[in-house]
Amino acid sequence: MQFTTAASLARVQSDPEPNWHQQYKDSITKIETLCHALDLNPAQLPISPSANRQFPLRVPWSYVQRMQKSTPDDPLLLQVLPHTLEEQESAEFYMDPVGDLQSIKSPGLLKKYHGRALLLATSRCAVHCRYCFRRHFPYSSHNPRRDAWHAALENIADEASISEVILSGGDPLVLSDPELAGLARKLQSIPHVKRLRIHTRLPVVIPARINDQLLEWLSSCSLKLVMVLHVNHPQELDHLLHEKLGELSDAGCCLLNQSVLLRNINDHPEILATLSEKLFDSGVLPYYLHLPDKVQNTMHFDVGEAEACSIVSEMAARLPGYLVPRLVKEQAGQPCKTPVIPGTTPGPMRDYANN
Ligand SMILES: *Cc1c(COP(=O)(O)O)cnc(C)c1O
Ligand code: SF4
Repeated sequence: MQFTTAASLARVQSDPEPNWHQQYKDSITKIETLCHALDLNPAQLPISPSANRQFPLRVPWSYVQRMQKSTPDDPLLLQVLPHTLEEQESAEFYMDPVGDLQSIKSPGLLKKYHGRALLLATSRCAVHCRYCFRRHFPYSSHNPRRDAWHAALENIADEASISEVILSGGDPLVLSDPELAGLARKLQSIPHVKRLRIHTRLPVVIPARINDQLLEWLSSCSLKLVMVLHVNHPQELDHLLHEKLGELSDAGCCLLNQSVLLRNINDHPEILATLSEKLFDSGVLPYYLHLPDKVQNTMHFDVGEAEACSIVSEMAARLPGYLVPRLVKEQAGQPCKTPVIPGTTPGPMRDYANN
């Protein structure tokens, strides 16, 4: 069924707890709709139709509501708008920058690091983030469908060194709660699996995803639960999300956050320090700050290592240690995410004092 823009918006605004799945289906996929909602003139924005064809716009209304109107450089808008800068290509940016294709154990199962296996539980996401390293991932030939889970689960059961299973994707919380609960039960029956980790951005863009059904199966799960959220900017953390994160903590989830360091979006110590403080207020600890992967068509988001180090040094100078995320990059073939340690990368310190 097709809903009009007005009906979709009215539903999000009037119903304090609209069904997350309806919000997921009602997401904005047309640039004109997005511009209209934000009082922006599409003719005056640097929109790239070809980038939009390659990786189509998708953003839920509840996330758009956190954008400022009439603000073409809003940091949330810039994360989802197909931009003309995406047409730039560089020989130093790749289609599979993190070597995922080499790490596939069985369809949808990646094992790069000791003790942890990552299950691509679905290829779908609620939002399409322009910088994402999965924009070129050949999901159609590695489609992590439910029928592939069987092989993945066998693989996990056969490898006694795996103590943690990470649900990733796409976004695993796109799956229904009965599907997820069933998967969790199967993992629970494998004796060497101790922890279940969920990598998700869905609750950030649609906070209503944290509903009773989800909380119910999480609360009843006997595995240790870790949820790694993906928040990049303090403006993403609104009151509803704050409340929902509290419910997740109450259900026994250890909450962590990973951000991507993005040019013109959060590349400033003040913004990231505010993000850390707001996350902690919601019971979430900052985990990783990723340098953007060298993904083809995303070079305009790149922040150099020296600058990234000075941003994190500046954060460390004003925050308690537990609120400073670890700056990392991902390199194919390494046994873990590669730490980028301030002080070890030579380069000019940017002077933030006056801006
Ligand atoms: C990032 C990643 C992990 C998790 O790494 P941690 O350092 O434990 O957060 C596991 N498997 C794969 C394939 C990954 O890309
Ligand atoms: S939600 Fe995560 S996996 Fe999906 S597009 Fe955004 S960054 Fe990529």
